[in-house]
Amino acid sequence: MNVEALSRWYGHEARDLPWRATSDPWAILLSEVLLQQTQVARGLEYWRRLLDRFPTVGSMAEAELDEVMHLWQGAGYYARGRRLHALAVEVSDPSGPWKGVLPSPSTCDDVVAGFQSLPGIGPYTAAAVASIAHDVPAAVVDGNVRRVVARQTGVHEPKPADVSSLAQTWMDDAHGHGVAPSVWNQAVMELGATVCRPRAPHCSACPVQEACTARDHPDGVHAFPAPAKRRTKTERLVALVDVDAEGRPHLVQRPTSARFGGLWGPPYLPANDASLVKAQKQRSKAGDVVHLLSHRRLEVEVWVGHTERGMDPASKALSTLDERVLQTAKKA
Ligand code: SF4
Repeated sequence: MNVEALSRWYGHEARDLPWRATSDPWAILLSEVLLQQTQVARGLEYWRRLLDRFPTVGSMAEAELDEVMHLWQGAGYYARGRRLHALAVEVSDPSGPWKGVLPSPSTCDDVVAGFQSLPGIGPYTAAAVASIAHDVPAAVVDGNVRRVVARQTGVHEPKPADVSSLAQTWMDDAHGHGVAPSVWNQAVMELGATVCRPRAPHCSACPVQEACTARDHPDGVHAFPAPAKRRTKTERLVALVDVDAEGRPHLVQRPTSARFGGLWGPPYLPANDASLVKAQKQRSKAGDVVHLLSHRRLEVEVWVGHTERGMDPASKALSTLDERVLQTAKKA
């Protein structure tokens, strides 16, 4: 890997993203948590929205979880919002080790380990924030980096330990050539996101094409890395939407350990639940909603009944699935 060519390329071609213009660890942490499972354009919208309301870790700690989840609504992977709030509370705890300040070289010896000790922070986010905010030379490994490693080395299914090890070797080499860790990590990820793309790699524009094994490999670039075998499970559910005379549904808050934990929605039962027969006798079917999650297909029957008193769904944080379920109930 020609580390100088890649860092030069990044200097000219990097996308202009607002979290790249700050060294505030909280703003960078927020961007990293959001971008893990959200596309950049959408992540940008949520990043602005959250940072506007919670400019500091302390301001999120002071807020109710409900408010954080409301702002997170629509971003998906809601556990991230819950854990971020838990992280803010833990960092801001006056009797805890952090006293309101995120891990930094002035507060702990090992910044990466410091971040990893916080709720919801794994090796990727810890290395990303430590390197981008504090220039700690810790290599990140995400899907983009894994793909670049697999293609550069021509290994179909690189082992996680080998990917981490090579990514760190590149980082050390770059650091030795005077490239800042924040620049290097972002350069490799940017290459994977914009040039060494999963489906349509743009090899002729690649700054490190000379060292690439996959480029002219007889199996073709797309064979690296080998596509992951995905199994999608189907889950059948019944949503019981009881509405009052004004059309407002009865909503419950999902337990934090459940799917969409912390969000609100109508009660659900598994389609084979013994109590369903009685529940359906008191309601009528309004329709079906099929909703796809990353590894799950949810097939939801929507049944509508009556309640004395519902609540305004606009005042609650709902998942996209529950918004669709309520829409289906409303149409009936
Ligand atoms: S030459 Fe092509 S396959 Fe190789 S790293 Fe560059 S973009 Fe990826």
